Amino acid sequence: MDFCFSPEQEQFRQEIRQFLADNVTDALREEIAVSGHSPGPLGKAFLRLLGEKGWLGIGWPREYGGQGRSMIEQSIFYHELDLQDIHYGNLTITSLAMTLIKLASEAQKREYLPRILKGELEICLGYTEPGAGSDLASVATRAVKEGDGYVVTGQKVFTTGAHYASHIWLLARTDPTAPRHKGLSVFIFPLDTPGVTVRPIYTMEGIRTNEVFLDQVRIPASAMIGAPNTGFYTIAVALDFERVFIGKYTKIRRNFEALVRCCKEPGDDGRSLYDDPVVQDQLVRLHIDVERLRLLCTKTAWLIDQGKVPNAEASAQKVLASELEQRLADEGMRILGPRALLEYGSPHVPMQGYLAQSWLLAPMMKFGGGTNEIQRDIIAQRGLGLPRG
Ligand SMILES: Cc1cc2nc3c(=O)[nH]c(=O)nc-3n(C[C@H](O)[C@H](O)[C@H](O)COP(=O)(O)OP(=O)(O)OC[C@H]3O[C@@H](n4cnc5c(N)ncnc54)[C@H](O)[C@@H]3O)c2cc1C
Repeated sequence: MDFCFSPEQEQFRQEIRQFLADNVTDALREEIAVSGHSPGPLGKAFLRLLGEKGWLGIGWPREYGGQGRSMIEQSIFYHELDLQDIHYGNLTITSLAMTLIKLASEAQKREYLPRILKGELEICLGYTEPGAGSDLASVATRAVKEGDGYVVTGQKVFTTGAHYASHIWLLARTDPTAPRHKGLSVFIFPLDTPGVTVRPIYTMEGIRTNEVFLDQVRIPASAMIGAPNTGFYTIAVALDFERVFIGKYTKIRRNFEALVRCCKEPGDDGRSLYDDPVVQDQLVRLHIDVERLRLLCTKTAWLIDQGKVPNAEASAQKVLASELEQRLADEGMRILGPRALLEYGSPHVPMQGYLAQSWLLAPMMKFGGGTNEIQRDIIAQRGLGLPRG
């Protein structure tokens, strides 16, 4: 594989940068800085602008309204927007649309993909329940066939984005008599369907996730993605794409570069932290891992371009990214000292508050998309072919 971007890809990056320079307003930047990772009205409007520009489906096949470009180009797009924390539909685009393209019926693709491309339709993930996290085969939410549809009852938890998404991608039990992982199906339906209640859960760093209650929610049979009782397979594909998304290196690299710049600044005595050999050693070690992550990210994008779904590779990327993000935040805190605790808005904040933000956010990344313990099992069994422990 080629590790360098082609001149065309570099030109595309410049095109995105220019677009962002022309269209990201100060008001949008302020909204992003204070919104706690939920897009506000300006973020939502910007998402639709990206849709009008045709940039939400850069790597999608042309037959579904995409630009038919490579996943590498799609990754360049994510990278440039992530650098500025701009919302682009995130998991809807990076994971669920990719899964719909692979597994949904033609009618479902026609129904959902054009609206996703326009930035009108955003989907949240309803897998986790109070009694089903790592062990998703324990999902207890029931979808019972009634007439020409299903009636859904149950509770989901940690349903991130349910307060601004339009739809939910829900894992529910459709055959309680089948072996646990063979009786589950995936459905997609609007969150404003009667019987759905969304309540907030606030996590560290002020990020909102949710619990979702489903009380006799009636949905049509056409809401089911894939064949009945194949939901475990469907979510396995979606989770692989999700881990590639969670394991991105953009913000980690941005934060690392900001830390290096901060260390180079001279202090009151004219010396900089950069002169300290211990700090130098820490920065070098971090740099090596940031570079390792970049290469792993390039590999998973390349695998997707080959028509494959990265599996153990996606898990490895997610483990490396989430643990590196935490290490970078911890070591950055130790290097910069107490001022690194200052948050965005403080006049003395170093690194625009990225470090304090990342320090609070990083532990959660080890859980989202499946915990790192589970990812290590996947790497062992599916990547290395080791027996179950
Ligand atoms: C910020 C955040 C956002 C999230 N967003 C979503 C979302 O949008 N949609 C959604 O459906 N879910 C979401 N989740 C849920 C997330 O996927 C789960 O938290 C995760 O899968 C773990 O499940 P659990 O919390 O029930 O922990 P448990 O499964 O109870 O695990 C507890 C601990 O036991 C360990 N453990 C469990 N089983 C094993 C095993 N077999 N081997 C070794 N160790 C094991 C785990 O690694 C963990 O350390 C989110 C979570 C967070 C923190």
